[in-house]
Amino acid sequence: MTITDVFARDLFAGKTVFVTGGGSGINLGIAKTFATLGASLAICGRSQERLDAAAAELRELGGNVFSQSADVRDYGALEAAMRGAHEALGPIAVLVAGAAGNFPASAEAITPNGFKAVVDIDLLGSFNAARAAFDDLKATRGSIVFISAGQAFTPYPYQAHVGAAKAGVDMLMRDLAVDWGKFGIRSNSVAPGPIDGTEGMRRLAPGEGTKERLAAAVPLRRLGSVNDIGNVAAFLASPLASYVTGCVLVADGGQNLLGSGLWASIGLGQS
Ligand code: NAP
Repeated sequence: MTITDVFARDLFAGKTVFVTGGGSGINLGIAKTFATLGASLAICGRSQERLDAAAAELRELGGNVFSQSADVRDYGALEAAMRGAHEALGPIAVLVAGAAGNFPASAEAITPNGFKAVVDIDLLGSFNAARAAFDDLKATRGSIVFISAGQAFTPYPYQAHVGAAKAGVDMLMRDLAVDWGKFGIRSNSVAPGPIDGTEGMRRLAPGEGTKERLAAAVPLRRLGSVNDIGNVAAFLASPLASYVTGCVLVADGGQNLLGSGLWASIGLGQS
């Protein structure tokens, strides 16, 4: 089953969707889902080469695409990218704040700079994106989808920096739901579980056979796909979710219900 078996192909026609970190992985998958549903897509990230390749893939899906390199830690650069997207495609109606950094590191080994880098990209970068998109979101009565993670509510080994950053993202999401509800702006998070073929999985579960062991331990007995995450992001941004704000939608096959013990046992962080 594909998303167009359920949602109309023009669900997001005439809408601009801006995806931070949209050049790869889950975020690119989300961008493709919105493009499939008729949206115009704007993506940013640090590597222009990566953005160019992603933009070409998005154009193949038929919509208008804008890409501009911007580090989400640099408010001025992000604001300029959003201004460019507005001029090229129209005001932003949906912001997907997905840019993030991750690497496994024990809390006693990670440097303060390493910890800060992750918090700056994930949390400050998410705030920067929401703040820079505010005028457009207010004008469009738009919606934000933050990309969180199970680390926000389940402690994982070697992930203190990510847990702190993503828990902050989810609280920011709730605060914005309260503060910006009066403008008609909805704010929600998606927390993906282990998603096959992604950089996150390559970094956290690199050993031979670990992917299969993880998949077998997920209550739904499989890893997720980028489409699984694109589908729920599209739902949250759609009119079907018009009374949903301040919610973390966990799309993990039930994995976090069982905690992170399996990740510890497969040696997360040790290849
Ligand atoms: P990914 O492909 O590495 O995606 C991260 C993207 O963010 C990249 O395109 C990267 O591009 C961009 N980025 C990183 N730092 C940036 C910065 N400072 N400014 C702007 N863009 C930046 O990894 P992924 O595994 O698909 O993860 C995508 C999202 O899903 C993340 O929010 C992650 O926390 C979340 N998530 C993933 C999983 C999983 O199983 N993979 C599970 C739970 C949650 P550049 O390097 O070119 O900047």
